[in-house]
Amino acid sequence: MAVHSHIERVLWNQDQISARVSDLASQISAAFAGTSSPPVLVGVATGAFIFLADLVRRISLPIAVDFVRVESYGFGTQSNGAPRISSDLKVDVKNNHVILVEDIVDTGNTLSCLIAHMEAKGASSISVCTFLDKPTRRKVNFQLVGEGKFYRGFECPDYFVVGYGMDFAELYRNLPYVGVLKPECYQ
Ligand code: 5GP
Ligand code: MG
Ligand code: MG
Repeated sequence: MAVHSHIERVLWNQDQISARVSDLASQISAAFAGTSSPPVLVGVATGAFIFLADLVRRISLPIAVDFVRVESYGFGTQSNGAPRISSDLKVDVKNNHVILVEDIVDTGNTLSCLIAHMEAKGASSISVCTFLDKPTRRKVNFQLVGEGKFYRGFECPDYFVVGYGMDFAELYRNLPYVGVLKPECYQ
């Protein structure tokens, strides 16, 4: 069965995603145009890899790119609420501007853990750029640091979504759009 037949509904197609990512890249380029040191874009692996790749190619400033890996989901669709950083940065972010790049902010547990971690490393500001945001599911209210701003692509309804980097049990990351899985694909 082709992967597309597992999708019940497409929420955002490739054209809609592309236009929104360009918009976010322009906002970031404008916001950091005057800073003395290049911002560090930190992708949260694995889910943010496609968004990060699309975003950075549309930013017109010098930037650094790095990744962290955070485990919290395992193979289910519910966060277990205790994220753990299992792979840390290589780039030194002390006195630099950090932009955390996420696929989706849900409860906020992952971000609050990462913000505390970047703050402890001495980042001079911490922004967040998330492709999707599910504000109705928030359990933790994270605080941005310094002049940090919150950038988001789309507000996401309360469905478990896949595609454009996001998985269910490591599958579906390769879909070029964002969709909702058919219920039989969870079983
Ligand atoms: P949080 O810690 O905010 O609850 O969740 C953060 C992580 O959970 C996201 O970065 C993402 O990897 C995963 N997540 C949350 N909601 C969804 C969803 O609807 N679909 C997928 N594939 N992952 C999700
Ligand atoms: Mg993520
Ligand atoms: Mg996942």
